[in-house]
Amino acid sequence: LGKEGLVIVGGVAAGLAAAMEARRNSPDLPVTVFERTGDISYGACGLPYVVAGLIPDTDALVLHTPEYFRERHSIEVKLNSEALEVLPSKSVLRVRAPEGEREVGYDSLVLATGAAAVCPPLPGRELEGVFVLRHLRDGRRLLRFFEEARPRTALVVGAGYIGLEMAEAFSARGLRTTLVESSETVMGALGGRARELVADEMRAHGVGVTFGERVTGFEGAAGRVARVLTDAGRALEADVVSVGVGVRPEVALASAAGIAVGESGALATDERQRTSAPGVYAAGDCCEVLHRVSGRRVWHPLGQPAVRQGWVAGANAASGDSNIEARYAGVVGTNVVKVFGLEAARTGLSLEEAREAGFDAAETEGETHSRAGYYPGGSKIHTRLVADARGRLLGAQMVGREGVAQRIDVYAAALHAGLRVEDVERFDLAYAPPFAPTIDPIIRAAHRARERD
Ligand SMILES: Cc1cc2nc3c(=O)[nH]c(=O)nc-3n(C[C@H](O)[C@H](O)[C@H](O)COP(=O)(O)OP(=O)(O)OC[C@H]3O[C@@H](n4cnc5c(N)ncnc54)[C@H](O)[C@@H]3O)c2cc1C
Repeated sequence: LGKEGLVIVGGVAAGLAAAMEARRNSPDLPVTVFERTGDISYGACGLPYVVAGLIPDTDALVLHTPEYFRERHSIEVKLNSEALEVLPSKSVLRVRAPEGEREVGYDSLVLATGAAAVCPPLPGRELEGVFVLRHLRDGRRLLRFFEEARPRTALVVGAGYIGLEMAEAFSARGLRTTLVESSETVMGALGGRARELVADEMRAHGVGVTFGERVTGFEGAAGRVARVLTDAGRALEADVVSVGVGVRPEVALASAAGIAVGESGALATDERQRTSAPGVYAAGDCCEVLHRVSGRRVWHPLGQPAVRQGWVAGANAASGDSNIEARYAGVVGTNVVKVFGLEAARTGLSLEEAREAGFDAAETEGETHSRAGYYPGGSKIHTRLVADARGRLLGAQMVGREGVAQRIDVYAAALHAGLRVEDVERFDLAYAPPFAPTIDPIIRAAHRARERD
């Protein structure tokens, strides 16, 4: 690369992973990161636990400072510096920084602009006390509101994983909490018995949960939220509201420059994280990736994939695509969440998703002990497997009190490798009475699924 070096837009998971990997590949390459907020290098995933009071403050979520990147890795990180425009034909980025606007040339560019939390245009959404949670500053605002307004009741809109975490967080803080979800599922895919286990756990901890009810607006007094209205005609009391109905990819900068957006609405990338513009890469929540089960390009905005895509983009951007190993293998759609004493996890496709993707799919479900039956302290793990008519594993969902978060990874690995249900049934897995029954729930569920054939 020439002397302009690598420029990166976005200073969180994907952007900084790209910067570090570029530095590993190319010790002398100038690397500059532009971040439009005043925060970089933090784990947004920890925000619900700060709200819960489990982690003292948002500062604890910050990994590294700009000084660290400059002094230890010769990476320049510019805060409060927004990329306004990309001109791919000139390899130039226009940036608004505290000292003014300027043009910055690049040899290669990584877009790691992430995603934005969505708040639907409902009446009253501008009221104080109605929050979305995405960036560190959202967490700080929420905590400040707690200090000032001392809320006693909370309402969470949406039972995605962040909604579930926030409901637990509010409840842990002592607020009377209600969660309202418009669909019949949690985490976008868990229905039936799995959903009921999650809902029961929340209700057992005093959280009110409703499915199939849509929030239609917010009402307040003196500019501050007081009630949430629903399409069931209810007015639910709420001193604070967390809206967790989803995110959208931040693609405006790229699409204005003519860079292709995929069907999912996120930036189209190939396995080297290249966009449609030469020398421009994208990584993390702003771009789409291959789903290894469906074979489609999908949007899968999560932290671990963001870091891995950042590594791939950084390596390719620094080496001019000559690093043959720097390819992103794609996702299988794995996700896990803690809901009070429960672990709820999914990987691959749900039955509905599988059928929609064109598979002749069916599912089986059942419950198995987490430990040997005679060993004290065990509990049930509910497992649902989705497979196609020829026995290929397509997806798994698990809910239980222990041993779910790690077990789902075995299915994720099987999905990554494109294995059949009968392959999973033959796995040699760890067994001792405190950890599993002689035949692990993973194998037991695979056996059940194969018997169906
Ligand atoms: C509450 C919460 C809990 C989560 N929990 C989990 C979890 O348990 N597991 C998991 O895998 N993931 C979790 N995530 C998701 C995870 O945080 C994201 O997937 C990850 O942060 C994505 O990283 P990113 O770098 O792609 O994007 P982001 O973190 O969104 O960072 C993008 C950055 O780019 C900056 N930017 C955008 N446009 C410009 C511009 N024009 N100029 C300059 N800068 C710009 C933004 O300000 C932002 O700082 C959670 C997220 C939240 C909010």
